[in-house]
Amino acid sequence: MSTDCDVAIVGAGPAGLCLARALDGLGLKIMLLEAADRDRLARPPEDGREIALTHASRSLLEKLGVWQHIDRAEISDLLDAEIYDGDSLEPLRISRHDGGSEQLGWLAANYQIRKAAWQAVSGQSDIEMILGRRVEGTSPKENARILRLEGGDEVSARLVVAADSRFSNMRRAAGIGARMRDYGRSMLVARMEIEADHGHVAREWFAYGRTLALLPLNGQRASAVITLPTAQTRRLAALDAEQFGAEVTALYENRHGRMRLIADRHVYPMVGVWPDRVVAERLALVGDAAVGMHPVTAHGFNLGLNSVRVLADEISRSLERGNEVDAPAVLSGFQRRSRAASLPLFVATSTVVGLYTDERAPARLVRRTVLRAANRLAPFRRAIAGQLTGRGSLPAPVEALRRRVFEPGRAAD
Ligand SMILES: Cc1cc2nc3c(=O)[nH]c(=O)nc-3n(C[C@H](O)[C@H](O)[C@H](O)COP(=O)(O)OP(=O)(O)OC[C@H]3O[C@@H](n4cnc5c(N)ncnc54)[C@H](O)[C@@H]3O)c2cc1C
Repeated sequence: MSTDCDVAIVGAGPAGLCLARALDGLGLKIMLLEAADRDRLARPPEDGREIALTHASRSLLEKLGVWQHIDRAEISDLLDAEIYDGDSLEPLRISRHDGGSEQLGWLAANYQIRKAAWQAVSGQSDIEMILGRRVEGTSPKENARILRLEGGDEVSARLVVAADSRFSNMRRAAGIGARMRDYGRSMLVARMEIEADHGHVAREWFAYGRTLALLPLNGQRASAVITLPTAQTRRLAALDAEQFGAEVTALYENRHGRMRLIADRHVYPMVGVWPDRVVAERLALVGDAAVGMHPVTAHGFNLGLNSVRVLADEISRSLERGNEVDAPAVLSGFQRRSRAASLPLFVATSTVVGLYTDERAPARLVRRTVLRAANRLAPFRRAIAGQLTGRGSLPAPVEALRRRVFEPGRAAD
């Protein structure tokens, strides 16, 4: 078998599915290739990830018809956030009012988003699928890029988009290097029933030796997010449900009363990935393949959606101008705009993770000082809240620098 198409998307995770939906209707022949089979895509298993979604992400998901497929009862409001350092009682408060909105964002389970994205894509006439088969390699040829599937078949596309996770094989096969940082820690996530009301406020404690977060879910439920050295995470994951509940209640110092496990636990190794670039000949990276964020600042899928928005926009603008899907300006525009969005957040997240996993006395002092100062600096709080609600901007000097590097033509705006 050999098949030709305009755009081949490798990976039907949330990013790949959303991109397929975004390109549908542009008159392109789209091919979606995924290792998992149809049944798993239609009924993705629960994976413990609760995804904090920004206002920009919600509007894109609405536009793509994905949001409408998520059960409203399963979407939790995220009103405010509080960040605590060590045993300090004074948090950095990121309030919805700083973001000029009624709430900072929403929380939805990753498997629900995947299921909804699958429903939005199923039955779209421009999208063909090859499911249940891995893509094993890729190479450019004249006017196209070839994908080699397990079993020996080939797909030929004018443009290939790799949405095949942070450990992307397509990225490596296309010769794009990446800096990976293994933090030596793992994150355990679990849905818990809690006694004390969370008030729909997300809380994060950068305690010494561990990071804890509690994400508010509807009712007396929350997601416990516990980051520890890997051996300690494994031990916690192996406890029986009752022991686990007792240890977690103690870890959270009883702040939310007794906590009881109500779903399976899931453990994720913490590895950050920054590729050298997000394009190669006739190839673009989106989603986690383009930037593998540490989840502590909850930006991964939000950035993934931004990469979908930017690539779809570059492609549709190219077609509107009478150019092709594989015009050089598509990839150069995508590289510039998607990096402009992801670089500041990747650097900020890596700095936060570095600072808060460094237990030495100077680092402890710096982080406490930074958090206190940040709490008193309204423009800083507004910048963070505005990132989430879409009603703010980066502080002026940072924004000027960002524009100078990524948008030289607009630096003087
Ligand atoms: C614990 C945790 C909490 C998180 N919390 C947040 C949050 O609050 N907010 C937020 O924005 N983000 C969050 N994230 C990040 C978010 O989950 C990811 O950014 C998102 O799921 C990535 O989607 P993706 O489609 O890029 O990749 P994936 O979900 O990894 O999907 C990749 C797909 O590609 C397929 N594939 C891989 N290789 C091949 C191949 N060779 N051939 C064919 N198919 C292939 C896979 O089967 C898979 O279906 C969190 C992540 C974790 C781990």
